[in-house]
Amino acid sequence: MKKIDKVIVQGDNDDTITLKPLIEHILTAEEQAQLTPEEVINSLKEGNQRYATNDLTARDHTEQIRKAANGQFPKAVVLSCVDSRVPVEDVFDKGIGDVFVARVAGNFVNEDILGSMEFGCKVSGAKVILVLGHEHCGAVKAAIGDVKLGNITAMLEKITPVVAQTDYKGNRTADNPEFVHMVCINNVLATMNQIREKSPILEEMEKKGEINIIGGVYDMDTGLVDFL
Ligand SMILES: [Zn+2]
Repeated sequence: MKKIDKVIVQGDNDDTITLKPLIEHILTAEEQAQLTPEEVINSLKEGNQRYATNDLTARDHTEQIRKAANGQFPKAVVLSCVDSRVPVEDVFDKGIGDVFVARVAGNFVNEDILGSMEFGCKVSGAKVILVLGHEHCGAVKAAIGDVKLGNITAMLEKITPVVAQTDYKGNRTADNPEFVHMVCINNVLATMNQIREKSPILEEMEKKGEINIIGGVYDMDTGLVDFL
């Protein structure tokens, strides 16, 4: 059987089709070692542009699964909220072996997430940590509303200090999109600072220029990430 190496991605009309190469390459240790944090950030930004313009890379997952089985050399760690509307790999047009993804409602850090980030960067060579918040975040809104429910109560206590620290004179409720937006951004910035404060390993790697710790907010309407 002939191997498929291109896929049809667009038919402009009945007479024309566009063929896209099917990518089966997986990042290697050598490629990862040569990447700079700046190049990885550009790769995330360019991937996000492709996502937002419906131009995702066509990947041969069967081949990539096979090639990735013997090791992984991802270029970044992304900390995202659990929100189902933020498909992290797609948002940055990344595939198998490209990014570590940690997810927790409200994209904050604790000991376990920090350990995962240290594993991703110090042990496995990732060059960027991206803290990714998003608009209309239920966890941020629940923290603003001081929701109490089961284990959610303790989880939201990681976010409520940011609510209190957000300097805003107007309507400080979850019904006010402007306030929710401000808390969302401040939560990303606070998480970036906590990574530096609570992980001497990652702080030192950033000071040496081995990694960059950056933040972004995903826009639900456009699919674009506003890099902070
Ligand atoms: Zn969320």
